[in-house]
Amino acid sequence: MTTMEETTAKPHIRQTQLLIDGQWRDAQSGKTFTTFDPSTEAPITEVAYAGPEDVDLAVAAARQAFDHGPWSRMDARDRGRIMYRLAELVEQNLEELAALETWDNGKPIRDSRAADLPLVVDCLRYYAGWADKIQGQTIPIRGDYFCYSRREPVGVCGQIIPWNFPLLMVAWKWGPALAMGCTIVMKPAEQTPLTCLRLGELALEAGVPPGVINILPGFGDTGAAIVRHRDVDKIAFTGSTETGRIIMREAAETLKRVTFELGGKSPNIVFADADLDAAIDGAEFGLFFNQGQCCCAGSRLFVERKVHAEFVKRVVEKAQSRQLGDPFHPETTQGPQVDEEQFRKIMDYIERGKRAGAECVTGGQRLGDRGWYIEPTVFDHVSDDMDIAREEIFGPVMSILPFDDLDEVVERGNQTMYGLAAAVWTRDAAKAHHVAHRLRAGTVWINCYDVFDAAAPFGGFKASGIGRELGEIALANYTEPKTVTMKLG
Ligand code: ADP
Repeated sequence: MTTMEETTAKPHIRQTQLLIDGQWRDAQSGKTFTTFDPSTEAPITEVAYAGPEDVDLAVAAARQAFDHGPWSRMDARDRGRIMYRLAELVEQNLEELAALETWDNGKPIRDSRAADLPLVVDCLRYYAGWADKIQGQTIPIRGDYFCYSRREPVGVCGQIIPWNFPLLMVAWKWGPALAMGCTIVMKPAEQTPLTCLRLGELALEAGVPPGVINILPGFGDTGAAIVRHRDVDKIAFTGSTETGRIIMREAAETLKRVTFELGGKSPNIVFADADLDAAIDGAEFGLFFNQGQCCCAGSRLFVERKVHAEFVKRVVEKAQSRQLGDPFHPETTQGPQVDEEQFRKIMDYIERGKRAGAECVTGGQRLGDRGWYIEPTVFDHVSDDMDIAREEIFGPVMSILPFDDLDEVVERGNQTMYGLAAAVWTRDAAKAHHVAHRLRAGTVWINCYDVFDAAAPFGGFKASGIGRELGEIALANYTEPKTVTMKLG
């Protein structure tokens, strides 16, 4: 039972306005929207709703700060220092930010504390370190010339993010953009604007100059106004593949640079020669972590037929042992889904799975009648053509697909429009790498799942995205190469 003593207290909400040019302001229209607690469905607070007029103001501030401001021209080492300071402030306020994240998103406090927030701090520090390490080249060309290249910041960046890892997505976007000297107009997701706004306060405290980071909470229309704006040079988007397509079409009008991190339907492949204890843990974690709300969730679990029966029995036991409940309770390992829309979508997939003839071995029901809780659900004997094996569910629904041999599973694993992540479990190292090379996915984990690090690139093949985030490679998203050639003599 949850007791008051054990449960983390809800934090004070410090910021609900728009951040434009270093000032906190109401929307020009005066409009607000409500953000809800997914565990109770109760309103948390009203947040300013940015309209097109606010987008104009924020982009103008970001443009000014980029074209004339100190940020893009500041010594890179000083930019890095401000970013280190921001990381330090996040660390100092970790408990408050973790609690705010849990309240707005519904994720268990133990995850906010031990996963999301430490990754945020790491990401900001990692990119702070890159700020002064970007170099050009001297290029030998034909003739009597001095030719060299520079890497200049791309400009004003529109950054649009989803609700599943609200603060971590901010860090992934701000880190490389700030390090390279870009300015930012960010739109957090309508479900989870609160931690981004608090991070905006901390950024100002850290010394990020006015106009460098602007934050515009709102819905899709706010994001669309940022995408259409002529003074925005680049869009970085994380979200659904459908919205990615819309944004790419809109961005074509002004030929903006785009990077996308979109949906997935990742194959998680367990061979009979795997360490089954580890594979079962990894399968459970790789699917149910974050209530299944991960673009890289191992949602197609391929299990070699020789171990299939034992595997299903044990993974079901693990699923049943998940602790559903108040996300503020320290023992809770599964909270509610983020909102009613997601909840309904997932319940609909569960019904479609049953109707298609997959065997629902455990779960499949709502838990309680308040809060968007769904029982950990496992479907066995799923076939490749069922909707639950083809479409992104984004919920705590595992689909198990038996297989017989390596070539077959690689081919089936690749039979998807997505290509974000994959995993392979085997004790045979050569087989593991062989399969890893043949899978068409941006990340392949071997004998592990969901291992993220600020230094390791992440992103998708095919309809899972364009470009990569994290690592050195993400810096290219925020720079324009320039070639300078001078005649000698
Ligand atoms: P999800 O289905 O996970 O909510 P979406 O792709 O709808 O994913 O949303 C991700 C982010 O994109 C959110 O911040 C949302 O407000 C924003 N968004 C939705 N539609 C548009 C659009 N047409 N243009 C720009 N941003 C959008």
